[in-house]
Amino acid sequence: MINCQIVNSHGHVDHVSANGQFKEPVYLHEKDFGLCKQHTSSEFRKGSIENAKAYMDYATGQIRNILPNDFDEEANLELGTGNIVPVKEGDVFNLGGITLKIVEVPGHTTGSIDLIYEEENWLYAGDAMGSFLWLFC
Ligand SMILES: [Zn+2]
Repeated sequence: MINCQIVNSHGHVDHVSANGQFKEPVYLHEKDFGLCKQHTSSEFRKGSIENAKAYMDYATGQIRNILPNDFDEEANLELGTGNIVPVKEGDVFNLGGITLKIVEVPGHTTGSIDLIYEEENWLYAGDAMGSFLWLFC
């Protein structure tokens, strides 16, 4: 049996839309709960599905359906938010010798978070950190 620990770095659709496929809690900063609810709503999913059905391949100029052949549209529309559970600055996940600590990084969204892998001093970042972000000290 696989024990999953699922943490969303923020509430945008490309990070939360699969939450409903898991029975386990999905951790998300409370400030992004509303965004998550919006981006996992049936109405929002309908828009994403229609976009996928008419995907523009910019390399060829062709419009095509990129949904898998076995995609279950009705099931997808009903996935919801999943079992979202709030996390905040300083919360810690102990994964048997691996300690991940939540750090709040508002900006990309108000509830954006990153995870610090304390034993190795690594940072697992979501969209709050990217090649287009400049840091000034
Ligand atoms: Zn994002």
